[in-house]
Amino acid sequence: MRGKDILGNDFDVECIGCALVNKTLVPIGGIIKETESFILHHDPEVPIKGFLIIASKQHIKSITQLSKLQAVEFIELCYEARTALLSFDDINECSLIQEERSGHFHFWILPKYQWMNNLFDNSLSSIRPIMKYAEENLKSEKIFYDIQKFVEQLRLLLSEQQSR
Ligand SMILES: [Zn+2]
Repeated sequence: MRGKDILGNDFDVECIGCALVNKTLVPIGGIIKETESFILHHDPEVPIKGFLIIASKQHIKSITQLSKLQAVEFIELCYEARTALLSFDDINECSLIQEERSGHFHFWILPKYQWMNNLFDNSLSSIRPIMKYAEENLKSEKIFYDIQKFVEQLRLLLSEQQSR
């Protein structure tokens, strides 16, 4: 699968999920948190600050292919990541999505910003158009910097949560 990351670097990998897990593809800011069976990272392609992905380390498609223990591990990571986003004042709500048509299990945590509601219907059907809009219009040095800073803050928040 060919693609271009946020920074404009071309990549060509068999599976983006496996490439991120194997660290042959590094998402912007690096992996945010790694657990036994999952990684949490920023979306490598779409320049929307805080667009997070939880990917399984195994190349599987569906939550039904996780063991019950892994399912618990997954929901804990999801809960921690979503809760950590409460620290960012400009994120009001998030869409949490997992599509089984993708070859590699990954779960989206997509923050909603005011500009999205200004330009698009506040609806599930707007998600792809929002991503396309972001890829075509929002790439800038500032957003790269903001995302890297965001990733660092989130990594810190999640490590603090863990030590509580
Ligand atoms: Zn894979």
